[in-house]
Order: sequence, then structure tokens, then C-alpha cells
Amino acid sequence: MTATAAKRVQTMDTATMVIATMRKHGISALPRNYELVYEVLNSSNAALTREFDAIGGRPTQEQLDVIGKKYFSHHHRSGVVEVAHHRISGELEGMLRLLKQEQSSLESYSRLLGETYSRISVKSASSADILAGVINVLSSATGDTMEKGKAVVSHMVERAREMEQVKLELDEYKRIANTDTLTRLSNRRAFDETLSGIYNDKRHAMYHALIVADIDHFKKFNDTYGHPVGDRVLGVVAAVMKSTLRKDIFIARTGGEEFAVVLQGTSLDITSEIAERVRRSIESTPLKNQKSGLDYGPITMSLGICMATDAATPEELYNKADMALYAAKKSGRNRVEIYKPELDTDLEKNWTLYKK
Ligand code: GH3
Ligand code: MG
Ligand code: MG
Repeated sequence: MTATAAKRVQTMDTATMVIATMRKHGISALPRNYELVYEVLNSSNAALTREFDAIGGRPTQEQLDVIGKKYFSHHHRSGVVEVAHHRISGELEGMLRLLKQEQSSLESYSRLLGETYSRISVKSASSADILAGVINVLSSATGDTMEKGKAVVSHMVERAREMEQVKLELDEYKRIANTDTLTRLSNRRAFDETLSGIYNDKRHAMYHALIVADIDHFKKFNDTYGHPVGDRVLGVVAAVMKSTLRKDIFIARTGGEEFAVVLQGTSLDITSEIAERVRRSIESTPLKNQKSGLDYGPITMSLGICMATDAATPEELYNKADMALYAAKKSGRNRVEIYKPELDTDLEKNWTLYKK
């Protein structure tokens, strides 16, 4: 079988499996259901697969959407936020109601004390009567207030617990919204946010650097071994980058087979050394089919660097790092290039074409 034919079979297998699975479970042919089932069959997200399996043979659309909302927030974003917002508003209203109740019970306590005070000042009553009355009123008012206070405290504790739960859900939602499903790295959205953050504080921008990296001849790799193998390689590349770099370093998958690393508090020397380390790690990672032992051969990456001081905006920083990457591609691939002003004139025209 030719490589292209092999690819076609593998690609068809996935599509056929998605449709067969949907038919088997009576899942309606909605775009969001295709995506869900595709991810269940292809992704390494064990939690997603588990939840899908748990809903059983004939899931309702509602059950599917619950999972969809959790894992594919781009299709359900407003829904998730609305639910969280609704819950937070509910909790806040509950707290407010309790505080108002507490206020009114304190008010009646103070009214009772006021009445007691006026009875004390009635001169005609005997002191024993006054004392007995005072004790009576005070003890009933205090007991009542304490009981209510306890109930309010326990309600508040309960509400606070629920708010904590909502916060956790929102944190999880944010994590999912910022994560690339295939590689588990940060996604383009998170990358854009991080990059624009660099220039929010101009004083710190000078210590930042951006590395962009792109897998070499990846189209050929896909054409030879098929898209699903390509997908797994993207996962391997992401894992290698993660394990090569310190945990706190920001790494994102910015597009198909393109990645970015944002470094803080760095110099050009350190940045070059880090980019070179990534390049070497990728180049020396063996890629084999675990079952058949088939050797896919080496995968390499080209990398471009730009220091934040060489650009005035996030877009400029990204474009300049990308120009350096393009220069690395042009000068033979599997190498690191640093942005320098000469590239603007050397590459501008070709680079603009390459971008399209
Ligand atoms: P170059 O060295 O110039 O970067 O060559 P290239 O083939 O890597 O670059 P090109 O831009 O021509 O092709 C990029 C390929 O990346 C196209 C597509 O097949 C592949 N690709 C993009 N996204 C994905 C993905 O999510 N999964 C897989 N398997 N392949 C992808
Ligand atoms: Mg590319
Ligand atoms: Mg490429």
C-alpha cells in the first residue's frame, strides 16, 4: 500500500469509528457530538473517556452536553460561565438574606434592652421586681439571639463551602479554556494572554524573550505515516519540550505544529542556550511505533528567538521571532536563529508570503 493510501485508510478508520460509535449509542448528528465522540476515541484524556463511558448505552443530549461543557468550553463557553454566575449570585443572595435576618434579630435584641432600660428607670417599682424583670428579659433576649447567631454561622459556613466549590469549578473551567486538548500544553488563547502581559509592565518587558518553534517537514511526515501518527508525535514533542524546560516556564502550542516558549528574567545567551537545548532534545528523541517497532525516523524543529526589548508590542515580538524562525528554515532547518534588524529587509517580502 502506498503511503497516501495508508493515510487514507487510517483517516477513514477514525471517521468510520466516530460514526459507528454515534450510531451505536443513538447520538444525534450534531457538530458538537461529532467533536465529543472524536475526542473520546482519539484523545489521551482519560477523564473524558471515563465520563463518556459512565453515561451508558443511550445518552441523552443533556448528558452529552454536560460533558461537552466541561471539556469543550469553546462550544459551551457562555453556558459554563452563566451557570457559575448564576450559582455565585444565588450564594450571594443567600448570604445577604442571612445577614439581614441577623440584623433584624440584633435590632429586636436592642429594642428589648431599651425596654428593659426604661423599666429600670421606673422609680415606683421595687428593686427586686426590677431585677427579676431585667434578668428575665435579658436571658430570653440573649438566648434567642445566640440561637439565631449559631444558625446564621452554620448557614454561612455552608454557603462559603458552596462558594468554594463554584470557585473550583471556575478555576477548572479556566484551565480547560487555556489548555490544548491534544498536547495538554497551554493553547493559543493562553499564549496571546501571556504575550500581551509582557508589555503591561514596560520595566519588566526587557527581561523577557520569546522562542517560536516549528516542526520541520511535518506535512511530509503526516503524508508518510498518517495524521493520527502525526498527532501522537505532536504529543511526544510537547512532552519532550515540557521535560526539557523548567516547570515554571510557559510553553504553548500556538497552532498546528507550532509551539512557543515565553521566558522571563532571561538574557539572550540564556535564551539561545535554552532554545538549543530544546532543539537537541527533539532531534535525539527516538520515534517508534510501540507495537510494530517501526522506526519513524528523527523529527527536528527550527526555532526563532526574539528578545522583548527588540519589539514594542506583543504582535511585533511574535512577528520578529517568527521571522527568525523563517530564517532558520531557510538556512537548512533543525537550527536556532536569533532575530536581528537586518532580517526585516532580508526577509520581509518572502516572510510575508510564507505567512499566508
Ligand atoms: P516546514 O519545515 O517548512 O515547517 O514544513 P512543514 O511541512 O512542517 O510545514 P507546512 O506548513 O507546509 O505544513 C504543516 C503541516 O502540519 C500541515 C499539516 O499536515 C500538519 N499539521 C498541522 N496541524 C496538525 C495536527 O493537529 N495534527 C497533525 N497530525 N498534523 C498537523
Ligand atoms: Mg508551521
Ligand atoms: Mg513545519
